[in-house]
Amino acid sequence: MKSRKLCGIPVSSGVALGPARVLVTEDYAIPEQTLSPAEVEKEVRRFRTALAHSKRELETLRGSLARKIGKHSLLLDAQLLVIQDVMAVDESIRRIRRERKNAAFIFQQILEKALSALESSEDGYLRERSADFWDVGRRILGHLLKRAPSSLDDLPDGCILIAKNLLPSELIHLSQKKVMGFGTELGGRASHIAIMAHTMGIPAVVGFKNLLSVVRDSDPVILDGNEGHLWIYPRQPIAQRFRHKVLAQARHEAFLKRLVILPAETKDGCRVALNANIEWPEEAEVALASGAAGIGLFRTEFLWLRSQKAPDEEAQFQAYRAVARTMAPHRVVLRTFDIGGDKLPTGSPPEPNPFLGYRAIRYFLKERKGFETQVRAALRASAFGNVALMIPMITTLEELREALLLVEGVKKNLTREGISFHGNCPVGVMIETPAAALLAERMAREAAFFSLGTNDLTQYTLAVDRGNENVAHLFDPFHPAILELIRKVALAGAGAGIPVGLCGEMAADPLAIPLLLGLGLRDLSMVPASISKTKAIIRSLKLSEIEKAAREALSLGTGLEIRTFLHRRLEHWLKGTRLQWALAGLIG
Ligand code: PEP
Ligand code: MG
Repeated sequence: MKSRKLCGIPVSSGVALGPARVLVTEDYAIPEQTLSPAEVEKEVRRFRTALAHSKRELETLRGSLARKIGKHSLLLDAQLLVIQDVMAVDESIRRIRRERKNAAFIFQQILEKALSALESSEDGYLRERSADFWDVGRRILGHLLKRAPSSLDDLPDGCILIAKNLLPSELIHLSQKKVMGFGTELGGRASHIAIMAHTMGIPAVVGFKNLLSVVRDSDPVILDGNEGHLWIYPRQPIAQRFRHKVLAQARHEAFLKRLVILPAETKDGCRVALNANIEWPEEAEVALASGAAGIGLFRTEFLWLRSQKAPDEEAQFQAYRAVARTMAPHRVVLRTFDIGGDKLPTGSPPEPNPFLGYRAIRYFLKERKGFETQVRAALRASAFGNVALMIPMITTLEELREALLLVEGVKKNLTREGISFHGNCPVGVMIETPAAALLAERMAREAAFFSLGTNDLTQYTLAVDRGNENVAHLFDPFHPAILELIRKVALAGAGAGIPVGLCGEMAADPLAIPLLLGLGLRDLSMVPASISKTKAIIRSLKLSEIEKAAREALSLGTGLEIRTFLHRRLEHWLKGTRLQWALAGLIG
């Protein structure tokens, strides 16, 4: 057989060898049946039972996953909301009664209509929801047609899954099976399946063109999640090379596990705090188990997105207190709701340029009640741990001052009501707009700390939409303009004596570590899964060397030059360590 190599987008690192298992997504061919008047109510009952079964299954899955890996439960929550979607349920029942047709036939039509509306929506968040909708719809149809909800049940151990697309609930199955990795035609860097693969720790590559027309079931394949390749019928020397990589990978994983209890400290004794970014209260446990020094970013708006309405004070208080207690005495940074941009609650009025629109603090300085409620909940939680507040999307000093005044007002009210809270709960600023970075010296006089949000800082400085595939090649946090801003912010923080952290994705990029430490940052926040690897790299470096390299990197002219330079330096520093693999696929 001819050997072939396909290229896609790597979304979860690692390599895997094995037989391909091509998943042919089953399309339910649903017959149209006309019911007799006597059968109609029975069919409505059958439909309600299918909904109830699906709901129970999802709740059970959510319970077990929330205990294992916090993030997955978020996806299941979205699916539960779909089941509770009164409009779809009511419409199905109305039509079963009016048209006297079988429930599966009617429900499939409603599902397809809703899906095409979601898929053609201009709102990225709604488009992403279509996977949840399709997923839960198939589950309900499976019950109506008395079929197993997933066709993944008979997967052989040790296979590499190949599919057009994978759905969140299918991936949940994978964590229980011995699937070594997966490749798909659809999906982008920030898609649900990318996030889940990363959390599950299996290699994954998405975005392969015509994958299903090239790979056949049982073909021997190699999936390279570092470089984004799929080798079909690999030649002997290539297979041999990758077999070595798989063995080395297993050794690295065992090695990284042992680092959890060790400090993140350079060879010459410079300590770095490696914190975790979380979206969900349950993830605090995962963060702790990964050796996080604290929570550097709790994206609290996910509480809002889950319930599709502003969570009330009590619900917020419970969530914040749970995280504060789990992490105590370590710091938990609660970012106030970053609603807007691509994180719009359903029903929000559309905006022509949402990322430049009514987002985060801009919204909450108008809708003050919502901001005060959140601050109240956060301050109440501060009595149970080490809580700090962080304000996103600041562009002016007025915004910061207004937000600080509101916080003071909430404190007065709490004191008057005799409710305990931490009087000195620090309020920091997220530096994620060029304006905030350029004003860093002024901001540093009034903020308790800074955290650089390089995802947005890159988007706004380089005028590159962070979610647009067409300009993804221009999204470069190593662009010298971004590095200049980071340097300026680090200097301003040091000058004013306030801590400066970084919580964008850049914090976990191995090439960024020497650069950020060299620029003086000592506080990095990232997904829990990246903490050990980052720690291992830090423990292989010497501050004296990286400071010099950071200075040199900043004198270079382009992002590519900077990344290439850092790659060479890092290769040199990591020579002879077990960490060379961490550098694979970093310059693309
Ligand atoms: C950022 O902008 O870098 C950040 C960490 O926040 P988010 O990704 O939630 O916008
Ligand atoms: Mg941001």
